[in-house]
Amino acid sequence: MRRFLVAGNWKMNTDRESGTALASALAEKYGSDFNAVDVLVSPPFPYLASVVDVTSNSAVQVGAQNSYFEAPGAFTGEVANQMLKDVGCDSVILGHSERRHVLGETDELINKKVSAALENGLQVILCVGELLSEREAGQTEAVLKTQMDGGLQGVSAESMANIVIAYEPVWAIGTGVTASTEQAESAHEYLRGWLSSAYSAEIADATRILYGGSVKPGNAKELMGQPNVDGALVGGASLTADAFGGIIDAAVELASA
Ligand code: PEP
Repeated sequence: MRRFLVAGNWKMNTDRESGTALASALAEKYGSDFNAVDVLVSPPFPYLASVVDVTSNSAVQVGAQNSYFEAPGAFTGEVANQMLKDVGCDSVILGHSERRHVLGETDELINKKVSAALENGLQVILCVGELLSEREAGQTEAVLKTQMDGGLQGVSAESMANIVIAYEPVWAIGTGVTASTEQAESAHEYLRGWLSSAYSAEIADATRILYGGSVKPGNAKELMGQPNVDGALVGGASLTADAFGGIIDAAVELASA
């Protein structure tokens, strides 16, 4: 049985005060005795340490939104996985569509980052997803295949225990347009099939596949209620404790159903 994960991606939002207040509110609601689902927040780099501090006695895990593949050294402006571990991060989001399409990251670069993060003991949330033009051209599965083949190249079966996949159709991110439950389930089913062929049925069955793209409290239960949807990666709605809490509560209801 896969455990739901509700992960918040704060992107380049919050400041020290609002980020700490948001994390504190979540830590209060999901204290150390909360065990129904996994909850993770991913603040901007400058606020990681203070968010780790205020969530340390709670069930709220802390992740980063990116990392570099090299060990610490002369890489101006980059952040090493070792630093993320050192500051108390459990996870890192890699291959987010904004990094692919705004910052120009390729599958090859993402793959180097995935391998390095895994080597350093971080859980990786690997994001994949098609553009609207690709969906309209009937290329959704081909795009997902390329991103999965590229992103997970050389990742061992053993390391897959630390991989979470996030299906995030680019046209649904930050747009208010959510994939229909059928569109989400169909992409997730394809991704699970990919995991089964590339690894094994056991690994496919154990790997969590999150949906991301305008998830809100009002649509979270229906989306996460699909057989192959194991949680959510949430952008905008992760920026308030009420909205993010509403999505976590939906996962809790599904987990206890
Ligand atoms: C995201 O940034 O990963 C995301 C899904 O954003 P939003 O929920 O705002 O669409």
